[in-house]
Amino acid sequence: MCDYRIILRGIRVRMKSIRKGKKIERKSIERNSNSDVKSGNRQSSKKEKVKKRGLIRCVVAVVCLIMSVIIIVKLNIGDIDHSMQVIKDASLDYLYFPEKNEIEEKKELLVCIDAGHGGKDPGAMTKDRVEKEETLIIAKQVKKYLEMNGIKVMMTREDDTFLTPKQRAKMANKANADMLISIHRNSLPSSKETNGIDIYINFLQEEEDCALGNNLKYYLERAGRMNVNPISPGSATDSKENYTVVGKTKMPAALVEMGYMTNKRDNVYFDESVNSYALAISKAVIKFFEDNESNP
Ligand SMILES: [Zn+2]
Repeated sequence: MCDYRIILRGIRVRMKSIRKGKKIERKSIERNSNSDVKSGNRQSSKKEKVKKRGLIRCVVAVVCLIMSVIIIVKLNIGDIDHSMQVIKDASLDYLYFPEKNEIEEKKELLVCIDAGHGGKDPGAMTKDRVEKEETLIIAKQVKKYLEMNGIKVMMTREDDTFLTPKQRAKMANKANADMLISIHRNSLPSSKETNGIDIYINFLQEEEDCALGNNLKYYLERAGRMNVNPISPGSATDSKENYTVVGKTKMPAALVEMGYMTNKRDNVYFDESVNSYALAISKAVIKFFEDNESNP
């Protein structure tokens, strides 16, 4: 009997310990599962953080990329603009114009620009060229450049109008102009090799007329391409006889023949560089006034 009870008790104890063990297992499983959830949560929150960081890094990288592209583009545009400016400045360097106010504030200057010939007087003519048309083209350009620099300009003609040389001189005198520049183109059918720019001044060669002639020669030479022949007093046929627009005007005056219409190369240069020649004439005029202001 005793042994039997002892065995039963042993079995009960054994059962209890098994139950306890199961409970402990369950608890540990629960604990484990809980800790798994927690660590899972931690891991997922970590992953989210990493994702966020990655996203932020991506956004920053994209913004940086866009910014750098903008900067590069801007720099390049700036370089292009700057280089263009340099080219412009270099090509016009010798044609430096003073500040507009430099002249305006001192005195209102009036320059008479005379486009040679006009109307029934065509001037020189070749197969495909008419002098009166070409003189008007360059005269208008000179007017534009002088006005851009604060100098008033009167034109003897602005269209295909006929005027005698005397009428032109009278117009300039009546308006009390400070200077007259008469613009022509030359022609010599007997010698098609003859070329270059000719500048005529009053044969008396007063100081102011010589200064104007020298300025014209200097700046037209700087404009390049066409030859500039030595300054001629008087006219092409007589060094003791003035052209009317030069001899009958009261102000410093010069007559400029812008190359020979009978010379092919002069025509090419005239067509291609008419703007530069107009600038050169303008600069010669402006320089004359600048010098006169500083040496009255
Ligand atoms: Zn002429």
